[in-house]
Amino acid sequence: MTTITVAKGDGIGPEIMDATLRILKEAGAQLKIEEIEVGEKVYLGGNTAGISNESWDIIRRNKIFLKAPITTPQGGGYKSLNVTTRKFLGLYANVRPCKSIHPFVQTKHPVMDVLIIRENEEDLYAGIEHQQTDEVVQCLKLISRPGCEKIIRYAFEYAKQQGRKKVTCFTKDNIMKQTDGLFHKVFDEIAIEYPEIENEHWIIDIGAAKLADTPEAFDVIVMPNLYGDILSDVAAQITGSVGLAGSANIGEECSMFEAIHGSAPRRAGQNVANPSGLLQGAIMMLNHIGQNDVAAKIQNAWLKTMEDGIHTYDIFQEGVSKKLVGTKEFADAVINNLGMAPSTLEPVKSQVNATLNLPKYVRKAPKNKELEGVDLFVHWAGTDPNALAELVKPILNENQQLVMITNRGIKVWPDGFKETFCTDHWRCRIKAENGLFQKQYIIELMKSASDLNIDIIKTENLYRFDGVAAYSLGQGQ
Ligand code: NAD
Repeated sequence: MTTITVAKGDGIGPEIMDATLRILKEAGAQLKIEEIEVGEKVYLGGNTAGISNESWDIIRRNKIFLKAPITTPQGGGYKSLNVTTRKFLGLYANVRPCKSIHPFVQTKHPVMDVLIIRENEEDLYAGIEHQQTDEVVQCLKLISRPGCEKIIRYAFEYAKQQGRKKVTCFTKDNIMKQTDGLFHKVFDEIAIEYPEIENEHWIIDIGAAKLADTPEAFDVIVMPNLYGDILSDVAAQITGSVGLAGSANIGEECSMFEAIHGSAPRRAGQNVANPSGLLQGAIMMLNHIGQNDVAAKIQNAWLKTMEDGIHTYDIFQEGVSKKLVGTKEFADAVINNLGMAPSTLEPVKSQVNATLNLPKYVRKAPKNKELEGVDLFVHWAGTDPNALAELVKPILNENQQLVMITNRGIKVWPDGFKETFCTDHWRCRIKAENGLFQKQYIIELMKSASDLNIDIIKTENLYRFDGVAAYSLGQGQ
């Protein structure tokens, strides 16, 4: 018997959760359920996090969390509880299987079977945003080595356990050489440890186009957070409906299972929603906690229900579907099919060793880190970069040099183009003539700038790690 935490969520949440729990019970899942209240009611009761401390205690104690979708109220500074839960509980891996069930659910991609593994904690979803000038706002994209190692190793281990043949990595490292570059580099490093699994890297733009057009070319795809968020919805949708896909959010201690879709408020309370996405999440949960036979039994009953053409409105198709049913009736049909297997679709077998034993991250020895300059970001309403250069030069000491000025990453000084559009957000790169820079210089530069009314809105240190410059050049530099 495993105790799990359940949240019925908002919108269609309670209906699809009731349907799912009924199926789990009838299939013989050994679960003790502890229910918590999260989401809209809690938000609107004045808790901007959407969850109480007592509920956190329950989730952390039980470690396994089955969650229906939640409505995040618009405006009012409410934080998405999904993102908060993933980060608080260290749920670094988001696993989203996207498989078509052709010819029973209409899809342009009959043989699609793609497993998307999305990094779940960092990237732009760290949500560190600032307005820096009148015209420019910023969102920090954070990618860490432990973050990359954990998710990429997870992808290869999962692929190995599931008998998958290939792991593909999507990044945009031709542009983001540091952040996406690290993700790609770690992918190449870890791929070597799995010679039995094919590996490849695609630039995300053409990779995404290929995925939407020819998903059968892919097997497992591992991606940083934002790309994974977008492309897993695309992948689920092209199997037939987002209403069919479930997801697992896995951490070292806790895990959360859910549908990938939201609370569909317009469909709430009408007994029309498809509970399949949440049911798929619940099946992943059963495999995770070692109730693999029950998981397989439910999956086969579900596949048979799909095959029987008993469909909810979102996948109902005249000529293919046999019977249009509501949420409850769909659950009844799955329950009636428990113990049976599909005849055209391939039945699933009970999985073994469903939990992955991944090694703990081991921090590497620190590299030799040398400071060689600083980027000063300046809020300046002028338009001529030459004038800004003349304004900034007086803050430098005799050993320092203004190397370049960029605007939105494009070099505009020296030798800029007059055609380049400039905002009020400028980066002045300063280095030492003799190559040796000190932290103290930054403080002195800030002081001199302040004395001359130059509005520095942030600084970034320019480092070399083991002699290699660890910052991007200006475009055109
Ligand atoms: P949504 O996924 O809730 O709904 C989009 C549309 O998809 C619906 O109008 C409906 O037509 C269809 N749909 C979705 N799930 C379905 C199902 N199970 N059966 C049948 N049809 C289904 O997306 P949205 O409208 O953008 O978001 C609504 C709310 O859900 C928002 O408050 C959002 O913040 C929240 N949300 C929550 C989660 C989560 O809890 N994990 C995820 C995404 C969105």
